[in-house]
Amino acid sequence: MRIKVDGSLCQGHNRCSALAPDLFVLDDFGFASPAGDGVVPEDRREIALLAVDNCPELAITVEDDDA
Ligand code: SF4
Repeated sequence: MRIKVDGSLCQGHNRCSALAPDLFVLDDFGFASPAGDGVVPEDRREIALLAVDNCPELAITVEDDDA
């Protein structure tokens, strides 16, 4: 599973990095992007999906590696 953040939608609410600071990084203005290459460790899949559900701007998507 890999995380993507649509930078045109992100409004910098910081909910994603509050939920999963290991999966998201914030820039100086609070806008998020995936940490590293965006790959989600197996044991962090549920929290990644929770971050998707908790983004008010629907800016976060995840795709399976084999998709
Ligand atoms: S929760 Fe959504 S809108 Fe807020 S910083 Fe994260 S990606 Fe951006």
